[in-house]
Amino acid sequence: MFCPHCGRENPDDAHNCVACGAQLPDLQEPDEFSLRVAEIARRDGKIAAIKFVRKEQRLGLKAAKEEVEAILDELGVDLPSSGGCLGVLLAAVATMGCCCLLWIWI
Ligand SMILES: [Zn+2]
Repeated sequence: MFCPHCGRENPDDAHNCVACGAQLPDLQEPDEFSLRVAEIARRDGKIAAIKFVRKEQRLGLKAAKEEVEAILDELGVDLPSSGGCLGVLLAAVATMGCCCLLWIWI
């Protein structure tokens, strides 16, 4: 990255400019890989993103899943969770349960 004060190029992980000593901004730009993972997750779902990470980084399923979750978390990507269907189902069951209770009560 380049120093915002003097324009001198610095290593990406440098905290202070090698030339003028000014504090450098933290490099928080998401890298291209993270962006691609996020894009796939948005378009094809989290499972597809996990598969992509597994293939690209030769990771195990668990590691790839954690990687995807970390990336999505970092980029603030909000996906409908994979438990969504289950959640809806549980809500439906709960609602039905309440109705049944009411019905019995009445
Ligand atoms: Zn500088």
